[in-house]
Amino acid sequence: MCSGCFMTTRVAVAFRPAWFNSILSILCLFILCLLGPGPRASAAECPGNPGALGTSRVLVVDPRAHPRIGSMQYPEALPLEDHEVVLTFDDGPLPKYSNQILRILDQECIKATFFIIGKQANASPETVRRVAAAGHSVGTHTQDHPLALQNLPLEQAIATIDNGIASTSAALGDPSLLAPFFRVPGLHHSREIDAYLASRNLQLWSSDFVADDWRDIGPDRVAKLAIERIEARGKGILLLHDIQPRTVAALPMILRELKSRGYRIVHVVPATAERPATPTRLVQWRLSRPAVPMEVTYVPDAGETLPIPTFTDQRGQLDDSLTTGHETVVAAAQTLPIPGRDLFSAPEEPLVLVPNARLDSSRRAFLTALINWGAGPGAGSCPHARERARTLWR
Ligand SMILES: [Zn+2]
Repeated sequence: MCSGCFMTTRVAVAFRPAWFNSILSILCLFILCLLGPGPRASAAECPGNPGALGTSRVLVVDPRAHPRIGSMQYPEALPLEDHEVVLTFDDGPLPKYSNQILRILDQECIKATFFIIGKQANASPETVRRVAAAGHSVGTHTQDHPLALQNLPLEQAIATIDNGIASTSAALGDPSLLAPFFRVPGLHHSREIDAYLASRNLQLWSSDFVADDWRDIGPDRVAKLAIERIEARGKGILLLHDIQPRTVAALPMILRELKSRGYRIVHVVPATAERPATPTRLVQWRLSRPAVPMEVTYVPDAGETLPIPTFTDQRGQLDDSLTTGHETVVAAAQTLPIPGRDLFSAPEEPLVLVPNARLDSSRRAFLTALINWGAGPGAGSCPHARERARTLWR
């Protein structure tokens, strides 16, 4: 970035006194400092797609130095510059949709991070290998995606974490291809789980935004939510699901919009003996911007046999304690229905709601009955009652 400035200085040497050139050099450096890090890397060369969004840079991170990241839950976030976004995909692989996600990313020369479920890896090991072969980072997401990992006996929680890693490693065929990145299903966690993950040098990934792509909403809505929330914070990790057809449909819209708004994609990889962590300052990891307010109902649909995780995250708050503790876990989630497969004809508003823990039990029971009635035979006949129940619920 300095070549132009120093070239000017070299030319000036021939015509100016030495003291003048020294001052000019100092001024030049000062101006460059004011300008910041200089021109950013252009999108990677992308064969056949000169207009691709591309991957602007690779960020190498040391999980031991930064064991928990993501403004939705933790006091640290990835050290991204303004308008830098990291794409992540959970719950796969599910070849039918994961392969389409891979194709879209490949067309745009984008590298992302995939958080694999062990059982899904056992079912489709070839797709896990395809993810890794395409150059994406591969992390894990437990063996069987438990409903509430933090409520399991610790030994069971450890078992599903470890088995998820073992299954994904086996699918890859080479454990060194697995990144020490982990995301908790539903973003549920506990001090004990966090401590265990840290003891294994696993980096716990929360997120900075979700796009509600597990809800019964259309792909347009998913794309709109993603862009609105990215714009609200200006940079960060986006959590998507590569098992959802609406995500397949939404992803090109999201990428196109990111490109037009000047965003850049960053690929995050773990540090190794041969690949040192990207030099950063601690202050870059601290939350310089508040989390985007989001109320999140988390209901991925990885298949009928998987449990249905649900959580409510009122918002991330800057907190130096080990856990921010603002998540509200809903015990009744096991009774919630799996979202229908007929996704694109689904209504815009979700019928799956997460109770607000602040409601007392009798009021909650009444609202549950009202919403269930509105979602069932009463749907369409009394939408106002259902909407009112939703409002009260929230
Ligand atoms: Zn998940």
